[in-house]
Amino acid sequence: MKKILIATKNQGKVEDFKTIFKEYKIDVISLLDLEEPIDDIEETGESFAENAILKAETIAKKLNIPVLADDSGLSIDQLDGRPGVYSARYSGMERNDRKNYMKVLRELEGVADEDRTAQFTCALALVIPGKDPIVKYGTCNGHIINQPIGENGFGYDPVFMPTGFDRTMAQLSIEEKNKISHRGRAIKELAKWLETHKEVYF
Ligand code: IMP
Repeated sequence: MKKILIATKNQGKVEDFKTIFKEYKIDVISLLDLEEPIDDIEETGESFAENAILKAETIAKKLNIPVLADDSGLSIDQLDGRPGVYSARYSGMERNDRKNYMKVLRELEGVADEDRTAQFTCALALVIPGKDPIVKYGTCNGHIINQPIGENGFGYDPVFMPTGFDRTMAQLSIEEKNKISHRGRAIKELAKWLETHKEVYF
């Protein structure tokens, strides 16, 4: 069976990708399945796409199999797109979701509701050894509220209200979030692309 490695240790993400590749009889493995662990790859790119390609290319070169990597984050218009590619470590080197979104709330203090617009972006890079990388995107628009609400999800979900909703991302169920999230949408784009290109690429 043909195989693809998803460059993540997050089981939730692996399951999302398994669903789309199952249809094409492509076996999905992840970094959790490797006998020899791969060191964390430093995300030195200036865009989500650059980081996703960097991760996928590094691993594809090492293992010589198709690799899919994602990179995502939050861009706030009033903050010139920050935290952007620095979303995971916005408040310091340790990853701390609460500290990150509290920093954002501090930076937006006094900013009017209509000027608190933001978007999540996800870039997915598919790298097949010997071929040019394929990049697919998904975005989710919304705005940053004044205080955290909700327990679900992760990252900036408690302070992000998606457009058309009166609940934060952290108040949505997983199913609701997947339908509208940047990652869900990027996965849909990739699935669409696979429908017509699978034979050429795999
Ligand atoms: P990653 O590229 O998926 O590891 O995401 C990088 C960082 O972006 C995360 O640590 C979060 O801070 C933020 N982020 C990405 N996706 C989401 C999301 O769906 N909800 C909230 N925060 C997110």
